[in-house]
Amino acid sequence: MHEVTGWAAHAPGAAPAPWTFERRDPGERDVVVRVTYCGLCATDLHALRHGDPAGFPLVAGHEMVGEVTAVGTGVTGFATGDAVAVGNIIGSCGVCRECRAGRENDCREFPTLTYGGADRVSGGITQGGFSREIVVDGHFVYASPAGLDPAGVAPLLCAGVTTWSPLRRFGAGPGTTVGVVGVGGLGHLAIRFAHALGAETVAFTSSASKADAARGLGADDVVLSSDSKEMDAQHRRCDIVLDTTGASLDLAPYLAALAVDGTFVLAGIPTRPLTVDPMSLVVGEKRIAGTGSAGVPDTREMLAFCGEHGITADVEVVPAERLGEAMDRLARGDVRFRFSVDLG
Ligand SMILES: [Zn+2]
Ligand SMILES: [Zn+2]
Repeated sequence: MHEVTGWAAHAPGAAPAPWTFERRDPGERDVVVRVTYCGLCATDLHALRHGDPAGFPLVAGHEMVGEVTAVGTGVTGFATGDAVAVGNIIGSCGVCRECRAGRENDCREFPTLTYGGADRVSGGITQGGFSREIVVDGHFVYASPAGLDPAGVAPLLCAGVTTWSPLRRFGAGPGTTVGVVGVGGLGHLAIRFAHALGAETVAFTSSASKADAARGLGADDVVLSSDSKEMDAQHRRCDIVLDTTGASLDLAPYLAALAVDGTFVLAGIPTRPLTVDPMSLVVGEKRIAGTGSAGVPDTREMLAFCGEHGITADVEVVPAERLGEAMDRLARGDVRFRFSVDLG
């Protein structure tokens, strides 16, 4: 075991503070990564404030970029000094049908989460990326695209893959129309992806002040979701509507905005059960789908696409000492569009 400094909350709701903890010694399949930046995700906020008290002290963070400092003897494809990234899962059974299909995020044994998970090697509780170093199974380490700002690459590892994966699965591309609900941490990347994939891209926002930003990100059109006339005018327009808000939306106008065979995708997690008029799915043969993170092949593909198209998240970089302040601001929606924490 070796000692690492992280920024941990010692109880739910406590401000993160420096904490020295132990990582497992790297095994032959492992890569040791010196973390340079880690994005701050809404999931981190929830875990640090409302997580199970038994899981504390807790180091959150699951959108990392950094540099390889050591590799196990069985690792191929990475060498000391490589720029790499690590996301929100760091292990899976590797043998179930889903794992073999590259859907490690849907592993039947449940994937190992980057923090708050059961370490498959040491048996301990995993700790996340708001730390100076992490030891990860090389299968879950990704090459970071050259030429991109690493601070802006970090959020691609959760916010990015969570929106990329359903856009690909449901066929976003030339000749399709993609609606993105919400222009925030996830939504701003979804707009960039949909646009770069060649889809007509429509941003739905409840805040008129975000219209210019949405257009700047690549939206061809912006719809004010609080305006029922504007919403009615979207009838059967979108092949995919990707809801990034995590809010308990009235689904009716969005299902009406779906074209025949269209898919409404939940990329956030509303706190209340969904209320759906079955006829809104039967007429037009529409579906509602969930999405949660992504497996290794999708993550690799997304990072390669970002490298080719020069896509990163818009971030505000904050030093690790100000993680607590960044959490308070994220809770009030005061960030454009993602915090990237500098681990030094
Ligand atoms: Zn996340
Ligand atoms: Zn599995």
